[in-house]
Amino acid sequence: MKRIAVLTSGGDSPGMNAAIRAVTRTAIYRGLDVIGFRRGYEGLLDGDGIPLTKSSVGGIILRGGTILRTARSERFRRPEGVNEAYARLKEYDIDALVVIGGDGSFRGAWRLHEIGFPVAGIPGTIDNDIAGTDYTIGFDTACNTALEAVQKLRDTASSHDRLFIVEVMGRSAGFLALEVGVASGAEYVLVPEVPFKIEDLCEKLRYARQRGKTHSMIILAEGVMSAGELASQLKDTGGYEARITVLGHIQRGGAPSSFDAVLASRMGAAAVNSLIEGQRGFMVGYVNGKIVTPPMSTAWEEKRPLNAEMMELVDCLSI
Ligand code: ADP
Repeated sequence: MKRIAVLTSGGDSPGMNAAIRAVTRTAIYRGLDVIGFRRGYEGLLDGDGIPLTKSSVGGIILRGGTILRTARSERFRRPEGVNEAYARLKEYDIDALVVIGGDGSFRGAWRLHEIGFPVAGIPGTIDNDIAGTDYTIGFDTACNTALEAVQKLRDTASSHDRLFIVEVMGRSAGFLALEVGVASGAEYVLVPEVPFKIEDLCEKLRYARQRGKTHSMIILAEGVMSAGELASQLKDTGGYEARITVLGHIQRGGAPSSFDAVLASRMGAAAVNSLIEGQRGFMVGYVNGKIVTPPMSTAWEEKRPLNAEMMELVDCLSI
């Protein structure tokens, strides 16, 4: 193996730059050349590759976003697109590709693997919705960003005796909402994995008021419904007036936490070392504190369960 490529794809997440740096520096350390493709698979199809050097990845470990930028690519979804990407990689004389992204990006990489191109996946998403790893790069940082916002909202919620709904990201998963809910001491956490009835929520709110609770915080995962929709259901069903805050893309930005910077560094190095050792079609995971390299298909063939004990904890600790 002489030359590898790296790209970031799908939604960005804090720590992607630390992963790019780790892939690049490990490869160079081990005697390989590195090409970075800009704008994910779209840039790969366009041949938008740039050499990455020791110094070109200097000073980025704690920088948010991704210096390679990221994109979604419709062209790459088609079989002709995958074949074209294969041809482009060959043109650049590339022996293996490291893809940093979510499960969609992994599915794309797997298509290259199926036609014989060596690939490795590094899970980078704030949603933490990828099986095969306890943590994805960016999740910890996003939790901390959301937590800081919730803490500020709680100050004003408690001063005005208000009911607040905070909508957090997570796509169709509730990991971010649950983590933020427990860490912030929220009264209620609504996640797509656990169905809820609006009548039950209204009942709980009524009971909480009876017990003397003057303000409440609901952490809502975007995969359940929008904060606006929940607010109108609460008004229609129970007559509650809720203030809403949608945290949005702020959760994707910022410098990675030390956890994410270290995770990204370990995963980036492991991706390259495992490719050199001859592994193919794998993802890098972090399970029980150890780096593992299961098949990339683990990401979509298995489902990460939501921690039921943590859901109970929300109820128990918000009495
Ligand atoms: P994420 O990686 O964050 O889950 P997406 O689901 O948007 O983000 O996927 C990123 C890109 O990966 C898509 O724009 C597309 O180019 C590629 N991709 C996703 N799913 C597939 C698939 N089933 N086959 C081929 N390419 C795919």
